[in-house]
Amino acid sequence: MQSGRQSDGPDITRRMLSRLRDVMSGADSTQDRLDQCVRIIAADLETEVCSIYVRRDAELLELFATEGLNAAAVHQTKLRIGEGLIGDIASHDRPLSLNDAQSHPNFAYRPETGEDVYQSFMGVPIRHAGLVVGVLAVQNRMARRYRDEEIETLETFSMVLAEVLGRVVADAVGDGQARAPMRVSGMVIVDGLAMGQAYLHQPRIIIQRVVAENPEQEITRLDAAVASMHLALDALFAAADLAAAGEHREVLETFRMVARDTGWIARAREAIVGGLTAEAAVEKVQNDLRKRYAAISDPYLRERLADLDDLTNRLLLQLVHDEGGPLFPQPAEMILVARSLGPADLLDYDRQRMRGLVLEEGAATAHVAIVAGALGIPVLGRASGALNAIENGDQVILDADHGQVFIRPSAPVQEQFNQSAVVRQAQQNRYRAARSLPAVSQDGVDVTLSLNAGLLIDLANLELTGAAGIGLYRTEVPFMVRADYPDVTAQRDIYNRIFEGVGGRPVVFRTLDAGGDKRIQSLAEDDAENPAMGWRSIRMALDRPSMLRQQLRAMLLAAAGRPFSVMFPMITSVDEFTAARGIFDLECRRAAERGLAVSDQLKLGAMIEVPAAVWGLDALLAETDFVSVGSNDLAQFFFAADRGSQRLAGRFSPLSAPFLSVLSDIEQRCRRAGVPVTVCGEMAGKPLAAAALVALGYRRLSMTASAIGPVKEAIRNLHVGPLQGFLSDALARRDRHLPTRIQQFYDDHFSLVDKSKKVN
Ligand code: PEP
Ligand code: MG
Repeated sequence: MQSGRQSDGPDITRRMLSRLRDVMSGADSTQDRLDQCVRIIAADLETEVCSIYVRRDAELLELFATEGLNAAAVHQTKLRIGEGLIGDIASHDRPLSLNDAQSHPNFAYRPETGEDVYQSFMGVPIRHAGLVVGVLAVQNRMARRYRDEEIETLETFSMVLAEVLGRVVADAVGDGQARAPMRVSGMVIVDGLAMGQAYLHQPRIIIQRVVAENPEQEITRLDAAVASMHLALDALFAAADLAAAGEHREVLETFRMVARDTGWIARAREAIVGGLTAEAAVEKVQNDLRKRYAAISDPYLRERLADLDDLTNRLLLQLVHDEGGPLFPQPAEMILVARSLGPADLLDYDRQRMRGLVLEEGAATAHVAIVAGALGIPVLGRASGALNAIENGDQVILDADHGQVFIRPSAPVQEQFNQSAVVRQAQQNRYRAARSLPAVSQDGVDVTLSLNAGLLIDLANLELTGAAGIGLYRTEVPFMVRADYPDVTAQRDIYNRIFEGVGGRPVVFRTLDAGGDKRIQSLAEDDAENPAMGWRSIRMALDRPSMLRQQLRAMLLAAAGRPFSVMFPMITSVDEFTAARGIFDLECRRAAERGLAVSDQLKLGAMIEVPAAVWGLDALLAETDFVSVGSNDLAQFFFAADRGSQRLAGRFSPLSAPFLSVLSDIEQRCRRAGVPVTVCGEMAGKPLAAAALVALGYRRLSMTASAIGPVKEAIRNLHVGPLQGFLSDALARRDRHLPTRIQQFYDDHFSLVDKSKKVN
């Protein structure tokens, strides 16, 4: 059976909205007004039931008005947030449409409502100022599928109801309770330590008018707001501290492109023609985007949608407060808290006040992370629950070094922070002072420390840290921040800036390591069940040689005769390496034939990240100029433990005897073969693990910039001989508690805290 309003023409919707608005803004009691609304909506949508549930406090929803269910259930039926279909809509803040509601696992039957005779169900959240204040639902006896337009119409009706319900609920839900200290953990995106007062991004925008009197006038308001938004963005992006070249410029340009895309503005216009005010129309577009966002896992598309979310919010602010400024004063020392944040959003804030950023979502390659990194702002990502836990003005300590944020910290925690900040500052001063000192141990072992980089902005760290060069340049980022695949010229320009940035120091480029944890929009994805072990990295590159050729060509062009090294990721067999080398040789010949200068000191290496490459190492070493151990991936495949899994983080230690034995074996084979070997995974940047690697015989380590100081200090403080003796003995015994024993041995002998115990 097909029932429901068959035509959703703009005139009909507009008339309905006006009717609802008149009822809602009338002089009757709230109860009378809601009673009239459910009747009007049920009649308009030709549904047998229409009900409004209102949020009574933080936890509970109450049936407030109904057409069709038993009248006696009104104010009696209550559901917890999350309970039943109504609670599900409120907790997930998303619509639900079912042709057979009773077979849904969340269906919670309440006999007093008499709803057992209704089969189909459609409900939408009623939102006010970013909060779900209720749920609007309709039901039909017969099984039927509600059309998308009907869901949209119901959502539009819910916006009109929100005007009145928002005020009712705000009083009921208010927090009132004393709020205790809390700690939320997340993922380190940009490290650092900061204390300040919380400032919630996206001040809760309250829309006063939902239904438009005069659509033409609303369209004019929308157009004016769009125009001034563009002007404001232009001014923001022209700021002097963003002028330097880097991926953040790319990110900002992409954002500007999204802003100019007229598709979403056209959708807002349509909603105005359907009877909404400009601000309600923009909010509707925003709600639609958020629904799509929740359903999409592709990181690139999520970034696009996050940009659009940022833009719709800008427009809303512009429309609601003509002056456009935030409502709550920004604290002098501000920790910004957001679900996600667009890069332009970040720039809106006063950089002098900004101490740190806490995001409920976010990844290291999120656009905002790239811009924050460029500005030196610590960022914690994936801090789930932070937005619920934090209120504007709360005292917050952001410990992005250790992936946590302390909310309303107690006095002792604040005291601890102050001490840590002093210690951190003293450490930073020590590291800076040691910048030009060599990483030589107490017993004369010389270790080369290089930098892992992936952004142009990282290159400045060469000077700051005194690193020997770039031991791993991850070339993915420029591919990840673009929608289209960068051509040879675009790639050449990037590599050229890298050559300029390293100022003659050695640089090792890793060819594109696409796939797994590094998804690239412009490349087809492997839909294998285990993408980390799927068609990715060098496997993809060898199947698409033109991609690899272009990248190598761009490097040769940029080098223009300067020496550099290239390494191939995820090498599993010797054949893969020789095939990749064949492609490189081809490009070198091509360059020479075209008269381009090509250095005779180009070196080719393989990353050791796959256990098979360890077993086949001798054959591989016969072909390579150098190798580099990617201990992140090697450990992932060695322990069969997803490197991105929060639950497995820390469960398998790279300092355990089995893994150290493998690393020791790799080092010994490389030494015998006379092939230089580096470790460039995360463990190389941890002082204790770095000391263990040096004791195993490694003499080259490559790490993130912030690790160079601590690792150099650890090495300069180390006596390699005793640790080596301890390790070879423990490995021979297959010591099952090696990670703790190494820590103990290190603390006993080399800890900076008690130098008197140092080995002579
Ligand atoms: C590794 O796997 O250890 C590595 C250095 O590469 P990435 O972390 O980029 O995969
Ligand atoms: Mg890797």
